[in-house]
Amino acid sequence: MSKIATAEILCVGTELLLGDIVNTNAAFLSQRLADLGISVYRHTAVGDNPERLKAALAAALSSADLVITSGGLGPTYDDLTKETVAAYFERPMELDRHSLERIKTYFAKTGRAMTKNNEKQAMMPVGAHIFDNNYGTAPALAIRDDVKNKTVVMLPGPPGELIPLFNEMVAPYLQSQSDSVLVSKNIHIFGMGESAVEDKIKNIMTDSLNPTVAPYCKEGEVRLRVTAKSHSHGQAERMCDEMISRIEDTEVGDFVYGVDVGSLENALVALLKQKNLTLATAESLTGGLISEAITSVSGSSAVFRGGCVTYTNEIKSKLLGVSAQTLDAHGAVSAEVAMEMARGARLKLDTDIAVSATGLAGPDGDGTDTPVGTVFIGVSTKNGENYIKLSLSAMRSREYIRLVSAKNALNLAIKAAQKMTKN
Ligand code: ATP
Repeated sequence: MSKIATAEILCVGTELLLGDIVNTNAAFLSQRLADLGISVYRHTAVGDNPERLKAALAAALSSADLVITSGGLGPTYDDLTKETVAAYFERPMELDRHSLERIKTYFAKTGRAMTKNNEKQAMMPVGAHIFDNNYGTAPALAIRDDVKNKTVVMLPGPPGELIPLFNEMVAPYLQSQSDSVLVSKNIHIFGMGESAVEDKIKNIMTDSLNPTVAPYCKEGEVRLRVTAKSHSHGQAERMCDEMISRIEDTEVGDFVYGVDVGSLENALVALLKQKNLTLATAESLTGGLISEAITSVSGSSAVFRGGCVTYTNEIKSKLLGVSAQTLDAHGAVSAEVAMEMARGARLKLDTDIAVSATGLAGPDGDGTDTPVGTVFIGVSTKNGENYIKLSLSAMRSREYIRLVSAKNALNLAIKAAQKMTKN
């Protein structure tokens, strides 16, 4: 079987062109196709118009091996994707009894009345590969021309249907068409920007075609996706692991907080559980964001005892015991206050570790010389106290400064936990 190497994504729906909905399906499909080692060359959005859809389909198939469409599989007269693709491949439509039964059962289960036009959703081009839809009425389908090595996969528009259908059925179908196996692993990096990471591992990234190394970044974090292709899963995995070791041996290694750990909060909770350590938080400018991130992880109650949001000086003193002297001498946005906040939280909440954050999120300053974006993150453990100072750009939004501060607190907690053992 010929290999599918390139793809185009063709999203159908006038709502997309009017700007009424955002094309999240294209973003999702692009990411997933990259995971499968298929290069996406173009995204197109086209209205519910048969002529323009036909032209867009022909243009996409003139270059790509695979076209994935989203939308236009509904029961109404303007849902035309299937019919247009069938006409392109010169396949007549026929009733698929299996799909019809499933649609009838779906309506019976959801207690809704099935109308005559829903039967249209069971009409399929001859020779189509059908993916049963457990999430809605319209089955997804693929048409393949082996001689020309052209495949069109058609998915329903609602993301609640498209995403699970792709993950559960279409991805295995596409993989089954390839002789090789792909394995991807993600290296999570915090505290080093994307360009600095690229600079440190430029040679590795450009020299290696298999595995490939692709960077992705979001607020203060970089993720490197390492993807290896081989004849066996075990071999592809070994290739990924070797590449990860090579990257960890560079300067980037000091900033890696985990491999395939999902997020800072996931990594932190997993580490605390593994070491049987407990955590508390003391927050000022982050207003609960650190606690929110930790408690978003299921099972965090095993390690997170609680946190205090102490926004004013008075409450910092009352709840956490930050001394008035320290506040007077150094101001609320200072290393000394950050460390006293963390110490107070650790002692009051009786935990192994506590982290704190105090700073200026802006856009207004606090009337002193301290620039907006100045943040101190403190950490306290039985082994001692420590802090980091962030000087984030005052041009950044309040939201960004608070979020990056919270992420730094999570990262500092990870570093502290890595060095600790339970009594
Ligand atoms: P239905 O059976 O629900 O009609 P369909 O396959 O015909 O499904 P559309 O009618 O094109 O799909 O879209 C249904 C809904 O799915 C849209 O109203 C929109 O909310 C969502 N949707 C469609 N296309 C996209 C897209 N590209 N990105 C995100 N959401 C989308």
